[in-house]
Amino acid sequence: MRKIQMVDLKGQYDKIKDQVNSSILEVLDTTAFINGPEVHAFQKELEEYLEVKHVIPCANGTDALQIAMMGLGLKPGDEVITADFTFAATVEVIALLQLTPVLVDVEPDTFNIDPEAIKKAITPKTKAIVPVHLFGQTANMDAIMEIAEEHDLFVIEDNAQAIGANYNFKNGSTKKAGAIGHAASTSFFPSKNLGCYGDGGAIFTNDDDLAHTIRGVVNHGMYERYHHDVVGVNSRLDSVQAAVLRTKLPKLDDYNKARQEAAKKYSEAFKDQENIVVPYTHGSKDTHVYHQYTLKILNGKRDGLVKHLNEKGIPCGIYYPIPLHSQKAYKDSRYREEDFPVTNQLVKEVISLPMHTELDDEQIAFITDTVLNFVNQ
Ligand SMILES: *Cc1c(COP(=O)(O)O)cnc(C)c1O
Repeated sequence: MRKIQMVDLKGQYDKIKDQVNSSILEVLDTTAFINGPEVHAFQKELEEYLEVKHVIPCANGTDALQIAMMGLGLKPGDEVITADFTFAATVEVIALLQLTPVLVDVEPDTFNIDPEAIKKAITPKTKAIVPVHLFGQTANMDAIMEIAEEHDLFVIEDNAQAIGANYNFKNGSTKKAGAIGHAASTSFFPSKNLGCYGDGGAIFTNDDDLAHTIRGVVNHGMYERYHHDVVGVNSRLDSVQAAVLRTKLPKLDDYNKARQEAAKKYSEAFKDQENIVVPYTHGSKDTHVYHQYTLKILNGKRDGLVKHLNEKGIPCGIYYPIPLHSQKAYKDSRYREEDFPVTNQLVKEVISLPMHTELDDEQIAFITDTVLNFVNQ
């Protein structure tokens, strides 16, 4: 059996090596390392794929979120509601901009921000909601957009983990994750569903004015050379990364399908287990793209399972082990423990199994057998 990895970047690279290598060599040959034609071409191709009017590439997914908030003109003291159960980058940029992060609980089945908790957290200072499409599954965008409209709030989707996922609206229409809110951010970190070979990110929006503002923000606040109209940042996707992404974007749907196939096999093996809850899916309308395959392990067995898997040479991850509201950097006297029952429980129960495009049946069977042997003993 091939060695099991949490993410098998090498296995995936080996299959596209010739294409990737020649695309990188072409960039080297042109020496157009920054703002080269590859970046522009990738931007257009991603706009088409997502059916979104504007993609603005930038240096990473954390910058992308920060830049979206800067572009929307959020001001110190404005409150931004986001999920307690997510990667810290989401809340970090809110705090960095001296906005006030307001963390709220998530849903026990999807792990995504709970619309009811959003409603309760809204105050006259609230300006934006940042739903995170966690682990590859879209948040409840019908409810979130409705709340935003009612209270005149911006919605910024943190789409770092769900690129390529569809969202099915109640009215039957479908949009790509990241094409729904006023703006969205994504990350091309190597292990993401669409990963480059270094750092990269992008902001998406359908709003022409916002896109124009953001194009200046990413470039030192310049709209005309050496005229700095706003305080901006320097955040660029480089041409080598764009070349890698152009090679991988046409394969994204197949990559996500491979993840879905692996997830299906895992969930089949784990169904009807009293100590295991498999990832929630929306039945036949499911569009989860499994950035992570995350189980809930009940009855206090999670930590033992981590140890057992490690002993058997199977990598796994705890995303995320500590609620953000309990992190030293993000403590706030407004938070009460009883407001976070779901997150407080999830941090004790979740475990993410190896998930990538190169998992084979032998590996999946070994992983599922090893998990079942432990949880049933
Ligand atoms: C990866 C990630 C980010 C940050 O992306 P970087 O490119 O690493 O800066 C932000 N939010 C979420 C939910 C992520 O998973």
